[in-house]
Amino acid sequence: MNSKANPQVTDTARTHDDIHDRSHNDIRDDIRDDVRDGVIETDAVIVGAGPVGLFQVFELGLLEIKAHIVDSLAYPGGQCIELYPDKPIYDIPAVPVCTGRELTDSLLAQIAPFGATFHLGQEVSELQRQDDGRFHVATSKGTRFLTKTVFIAGGVGSFQPRTLKADGLDKFHDTQLFYRVRNPQQFAGKNLVIVGGGDSALDWALNFVQPGPHKAESVILLHRRDGFRAAPASVTRMRELCDAYEMQLMTGQVTGFDEADGRLVRIKVSGNDGVTRGVPLDALLVFFGLSPKLGPIAEWGLGLERKQVVVDTEKFQTNVPGIFAVGDINIYPGKKKLILSGFHEAALAAFGAAAYVFPDKRILLQYTTTSPKLHKVLGVESPVFD
Ligand code: FAD
Repeated sequence: MNSKANPQVTDTARTHDDIHDRSHNDIRDDIRDDVRDGVIETDAVIVGAGPVGLFQVFELGLLEIKAHIVDSLAYPGGQCIELYPDKPIYDIPAVPVCTGRELTDSLLAQIAPFGATFHLGQEVSELQRQDDGRFHVATSKGTRFLTKTVFIAGGVGSFQPRTLKADGLDKFHDTQLFYRVRNPQQFAGKNLVIVGGGDSALDWALNFVQPGPHKAESVILLHRRDGFRAAPASVTRMRELCDAYEMQLMTGQVTGFDEADGRLVRIKVSGNDGVTRGVPLDALLVFFGLSPKLGPIAEWGLGLERKQVVVDTEKFQTNVPGIFAVGDINIYPGKKKLILSGFHEAALAAFGAAAYVFPDKRILLQYTTTSPKLHKVLGVESPVFD
């Protein structure tokens, strides 16, 4: 979801705009500070600004390692913003409940003291070790870095929605065929067909049925079978709404379509009863999930297992010394793809990286509560105790 495109999320949009502004200013600072021949020389580059990449900034910051952070999306937050900005998360330690968006905004506030430079809307496409031990990192927009350490926090990789296969339908992509809802208001008062059986399909179907600013004229949920992967409460609610004739459930698959004057006017649905029916519509919303595409990360010579980057559990380092992998992208015995696991990994990876950035320095564990040095890097007052 692009929060800038959604007028409902002004607060978040402001926060993200701040990030954009800060990132541009910081990039200018970098040009003064540590850019040689157009290459940014730095201690750490983080690939991915999901929750774990953001927290990596914090853990590096405590060790006085300044980071640059790159994401192919135009905004930070990874899956939390892209997939479930308004859903509640209940298992962040000491935060009883927060939404994906609130978690992202809290992380952005928490890392603000460290002035990380954001490079958004660009994919890291190249990573190569240099003779001096540093890494050359390049993005799709031509930003280049020479860095002592790299943190791969790429999650499930670049987000690629699974598409609906029907010859010729692609031409309606982003006009009448959608794989994401960026602006729910554009569907208000429309006749919608929503395809899929997971949480996204059910959530959006329920959202567009309920009275409010996004209410559609009609909603048909189309799934290939009468069984759903979505949360049971959503399925129950959907069936109640169907019983009340507020929406309709169809089982079958899209096998074709009709167009008139360049517009998609009807899809053909082959039902499980063998009958093909024409279903008129204004917009087709398809939620088949994301297919994880590691993208360029797969080509950097890192040890991989089942499309994930193999790491140790002491430093979360890959088979290449100086390259760490944290969050959903990594794999090790017992790995659980949870945000809290990623936060732990980020802390240990930062300590692992300190050995490359400060080879002559002994790194001690300090508490943020009591360490005047950490208070200084955090920019807070040291408390005075009686
Ligand atoms: P991501 O959030 O996936 O972020 C990775 C970022 O890297 C993305 O922004 C991507 O664009 C970027 N990227 C990838 N490759 C490149 C590249 N080459 N160049 C530049 N950028 C790149 N977890 C919980 O702990 N609790 C929950 O309640 C919970 N609920 C969830 C609900 C849903 C519906 C989903 C889908 C997930 C949920 N999760 C939950 C899982 C949680 O969101 C993930 O564990 C978490 O987002 C992983 O964070 P990450 O930073 O590792 O990766």
